[in-house]
Amino acid sequence: MKVMAFGAHPDDIEILCAGTLAKYSSAGHDVAIVLMTNGEVGSSTLGKKEIAAIRRGEAEKSAEIIQAEFFWLGYPDEFLFNTPELRLRVIDTIRRFSPDVIITHDKDADYHPDHTTTGQVIWDTHVMVTVSNIETETAPCEKIPTLFFMDTVAGVNFQPECYVDITQQWEMKAAMLSCHKSQDEWLNDQYGVTCVEFAQTQARFRGFQTGTRYAECFRTPKFFPGSVNPNSLLPGLI
Ligand SMILES: [Zn+2]
Repeated sequence: MKVMAFGAHPDDIEILCAGTLAKYSSAGHDVAIVLMTNGEVGSSTLGKKEIAAIRRGEAEKSAEIIQAEFFWLGYPDEFLFNTPELRLRVIDTIRRFSPDVIITHDKDADYHPDHTTTGQVIWDTHVMVTVSNIETETAPCEKIPTLFFMDTVAGVNFQPECYVDITQQWEMKAAMLSCHKSQDEWLNDQYGVTCVEFAQTQARFRGFQTGTRYAECFRTPKFFPGSVNPNSLLPGLI
C-alpha cells in the first residue's frame, strides 16, 4: 500500500499522524510526506529565509527516520489559498506518488487557516487526480485514493471515528518530533513545552480514550459514491 500524508507546516505530520505513518512504514508499506508551506513564520529571532531553510532540513531528517518520500511545496506560511494553481500543483503531486491512502488535516474540524485550506484542497482534488482532461505533468492516477482526516492540534473540536494504536511506534514518533529543534524553542516560548511533550500529551489522551498507551485518531469524510476501503487503516484500530 502507498500512504501519502499532507501537512500544512513542518511538524504537523509528526504531531498528528507520525505514529501511524511509522506503523505503515514498519509494516512494509510506502510512505510519503508532503509539506504545503515553508514554515517561515516559525521563529521570533530568525528571518523568513533562514528559518524556512532550517525547518526544511528538520522535516527531511524526520522523514528519513521512516524512509518516507519527501515533497516540499514551499508556499508562504500563513498565506495558503485554494487557487487553481495550488489545486493543479496538488493534483500533480498526488499523481507523482499515486497513493492508495491520503491523510491530511480536517477541513471542517480544524481551526488553523493553512490546515483548513490544506484539507479543503485535498478534498477538492482527490477525485480529480483520476480525470484525464485535467492535465498536469504526470499521468492521472488509476483509482481514487481513500481519504482520512487526522486529529487537530490538541484535539480541539475533533470527533474521532477510528484510532490507531501507536504504542509500539511512540519512540519513533518522538524521534521524528525531536528533529524539529527550532520548534522546541518556539513552543517553549509560546507554551512552555517541547515538541515531544506537546505531542505526548495528545497521544497519551487519545490512547486513554481507546484503551492503549498511545494512539492517533482519524475520521473519514463522506461523499457519494465514496471510496473508503475499510482495510486502508492498519489493524489495531477500534
Ligand atoms: Zn500547522
